[in-house]
Amino acid sequence: MLTDRLREWTATSPRLPAFVYDLDVLDAHARRIRDAVPIEILYAAKANPDAPILRTLAPHVDGFEVASGGELRHVRSVLPEARLAFGGPGKTDAELDLPADRIHVESPYELARLAAKGRPADVLLRANLAGDRTGVALAMSGPFGMDPDVIEECREILASAPWLRLRGVHAHLASGLDAPELVVQSREILDWARPWAEKAEIEDPEFNLGGGMAVDYAAPGATFDWEAYGRKIAALARPGETLRIEPGRAVTAYCGWYVTDVLDVKPAHGRWYAVLRGGTMHLRTPVTKQHDQPFTVLRNPAGGSGARRPSAHDAEITLVGQLCTPKDVFARDVSVAGIGVGDVVAFGMAGAYGWNISHRDFLMHDPPGFHYLAGDPRGYPPSEVP
Ligand SMILES: *Cc1c(COP(=O)(O)O)cnc(C)c1O
Repeated sequence: MLTDRLREWTATSPRLPAFVYDLDVLDAHARRIRDAVPIEILYAAKANPDAPILRTLAPHVDGFEVASGGELRHVRSVLPEARLAFGGPGKTDAELDLPADRIHVESPYELARLAAKGRPADVLLRANLAGDRTGVALAMSGPFGMDPDVIEECREILASAPWLRLRGVHAHLASGLDAPELVVQSREILDWARPWAEKAEIEDPEFNLGGGMAVDYAAPGATFDWEAYGRKIAALARPGETLRIEPGRAVTAYCGWYVTDVLDVKPAHGRWYAVLRGGTMHLRTPVTKQHDQPFTVLRNPAGGSGARRPSAHDAEITLVGQLCTPKDVFARDVSVAGIGVGDVVAFGMAGAYGWNISHRDFLMHDPPGFHYLAGDPRGYPPSEVP
């Protein structure tokens, strides 16, 4: 799980905590996805919009899905040529003024406001299909998209605004699906969307099947089966239509680490705790997902101060940060062979929904450093490779 390059990097005694991204790991992973999936791929920028991440992904994807005006402007500034699909609930009038290659419309009211702009725009209507989504990590139930009967209201609005070009249907129904589950869901979307698109007389319709490919934090080595998904989705595709996905987490989760060191080790009421520099205000993922963030301990025999070096051996230990809240937990009661003050702890799978979803200023500790490692710096702007 820990790459040799990351090990070497930690041996240089860097300032910790730090987020470290291996751009070659990302490049190889994105290439694998590209090779396996024969339909259009947009990367959902909200999973990790860091500029070096976007630049590394750009050659391997067909474009980017952005979920706010801020994301749209950011991705545009990093990649001026990139194709952008603009989604997300509650778009403001100012956001509806922003040009995008596709706009994913969330409600009839939003469509009417877009129509009132009087300018051409290419739209996909976001459908919120009911269906059994028990067992998924995050069902997108709630105010996302339109129920099939509500979406009907859009036809009249479109008929009165010929400058809007209806391109197809968008659906992002759930997160945390494995390949067979996602194929079933994709088929469900198409079974509804194809007849609808035909009725609406959309030529060469586009169907955006969403993201939500599973990432299993308990099994860092077991990635989403892109090959199986790609084969099955190829079999679903029909000539004359465009199929598209917009994954986020499963693209960037694996290329990032949050690296820090142990400040204290102590027992409390029958539990062992290791207190780490930093905390979940930098890496909120284990709190939001309520999981144990996978990690590797790099022992440092020279750790500690003076004669004392608190440590635990063959113990179950809870890894916490520096926040004054019992919720600041990275991993709970996990077995370690040994851990002591001064050891380095590298949390893996920190490349998606990590830093950018975190309540970073809570308690005002020093911010983490950011490092983008790459074997061939020529491929990246010099500022992005330490
Ligand atoms: C968040 C989101 C995605 C990406 O979801 P992942 O679970 O990260 O793959 C795609 N589409 C929409 C509309 C989203 O909101």
